[in-house]
Amino acid sequence: MQSVNSVRTNGRWVPAEVAGPAGRHAVVVGGSLAGLLAAQVLTGHAERVTIVERDRFPEEDEEGGEAGAVGEGTASASRPGVPQSRHPHVLLEGGQLALDALLPGFMAELRAAGAPRVGMPADMVQWQNGRWFRRVPASTHIHTGSRAQIERLIRRRVLAHPSVALVEGTDTVGLLGDAARVRGVLLRKRGDGARDEQRELAADLVVDASGRSTKAPRWLAAIGADAPYEEIIDTGLAYASRVYRDTTGTLGGEPSAGALGLHVVPNPTQPYGFVVLPLEDGTHLATFSGLRGDEPSTDDSEFESYAKRLPHPVVHRWLREAEPLSPVSGFRRTANVRRRYDLPGRRPAGFLATGDALCTFNPIYGQGMAVAAMSAVALRDALADPRRTPTTRRVQKAVLAASRQAWDISAGSDKKMPGATGNAVAVRLADRVAGWYLHRVQERTPGDPVVGRAFRSVVSLNEPLGALFAPAVARAVLFGPARETPAEPPMTREGREGTEYGAS
Ligand SMILES: Cc1cc2nc3c(=O)[nH]c(=O)nc-3n(C[C@H](O)[C@H](O)[C@H](O)COP(=O)(O)OP(=O)(O)OC[C@H]3O[C@@H](n4cnc5c(N)ncnc54)[C@H](O)[C@@H]3O)c2cc1C
Repeated sequence: MQSVNSVRTNGRWVPAEVAGPAGRHAVVVGGSLAGLLAAQVLTGHAERVTIVERDRFPEEDEEGGEAGAVGEGTASASRPGVPQSRHPHVLLEGGQLALDALLPGFMAELRAAGAPRVGMPADMVQWQNGRWFRRVPASTHIHTGSRAQIERLIRRRVLAHPSVALVEGTDTVGLLGDAARVRGVLLRKRGDGARDEQRELAADLVVDASGRSTKAPRWLAAIGADAPYEEIIDTGLAYASRVYRDTTGTLGGEPSAGALGLHVVPNPTQPYGFVVLPLEDGTHLATFSGLRGDEPSTDDSEFESYAKRLPHPVVHRWLREAEPLSPVSGFRRTANVRRRYDLPGRRPAGFLATGDALCTFNPIYGQGMAVAAMSAVALRDALADPRRTPTTRRVQKAVLAASRQAWDISAGSDKKMPGATGNAVAVRLADRVAGWYLHRVQERTPGDPVVGRAFRSVVSLNEPLGALFAPAVARAVLFGPARETPAEPPMTREGREGTEYGAS
């Protein structure tokens, strides 16, 4: 066993001592969104921050994109550590605000790089609970560019910081220290001939951002600490995605009228989902979702026929005419998992978890990236709080709290899905009361701009759940009728751009 004596900084291998003067050292396991954003925050609290990533990041071409042919720079650009990159990644408003708070000007940069911005509900033809949404002016926007693009731009910003170093192509395989304090990580380089060589990297703080497949609970047990209790709700949802070119003229037409995407939202009585969204290179990413036992096929020749299960032929028609540009990719590990490091137990100082390694959501709600960014904001605020000593436990609680609303949305909805399994599926009395109210909210969301606006502000993680109980919203939910909605998919917008129903 030997100590790590070199790190890669801004693309060059240099001795560790050159990467920064001796002092506090933080190690972040995982160089994806949650890890990069945590590292950015930690630059304010440690003299050196080392990101350990098992993949090697793609080389960038001269324009700053990753080299490749059609589709390869977008949804198809996937590295082994983030296979979910081949599937749609919407960036919710809560995440947009958090990213701008962490990396000023980031959203403008993302827009300038071509990431499409889709107004909800104005730009989307959307079906939910037996209703088509009225396409009234947008009250929130999502970004629908590829995950690879978002990660690449964040990576560029974070790795430019002089105290951040990157160790690529290296697995973290364990923790150093004991149940009282974590003192670093155990690393193993990937690649030929390097498999058995393990090295130690000392650290004052270790942040686990290694994603939904984290091994940290095992690493903690190996040093005598307690693994966290895990809450699990699994609907068995599976994704199948494929890149298309819209040859129909249906999507991406005149912004003032045409739709930018199609979305069929599943529910307990209609469990099949579909979404097609624009990517930054002008192509579209189409995805089916289905539950355990009736998953969408990943066979190229069978992909389109899954559309026959949907409640309207509009999707099937679009797919029949659009041009497929990639093979079909599948994804099945979609359970909601929350690791309760905040609960009492033998927890070592100097160890934190964030991002999917802390709380993973069913991806259908589109929350993970936003929560990764909001968790980094919570980390920043907890570390900088002048009123409280930032103990490991206190900071971990604050980071977990950043995911609470997202968890309530995805876990609360998934409990109701047929066949959901896991130790957290039990429906309590409070869930039933909330479920009754939320059902009425959802009935009104497609047709009532006031209720719709409140609902969107909550699911986009921009406002707390309490927004659904504001007086005007509660009146409409409790006493108002569900307003009329379009009988057929609305292919044009309603109302004036930039104004909101109910605002005047
Ligand atoms: C199918 C699917 C669709 C999704 N859609 C959306 C969406 O629409 N909107 C949204 O906001 N979110 C979505 N998500 C969630 C989103 O992908 C994640 O929340 C987001 O990427 C943040 O994850 P992370 O950084 O915590 O982990 P990840 O992105 O999973 O990254 C973990 C990183 O750790 C590295 N790593 C793992 N183990 C080790 C180790 N032992 N040593 C060193 N490095 C290691 C991996 O290589 C990887 O780089 C989706 C997820 C899935 C699965």
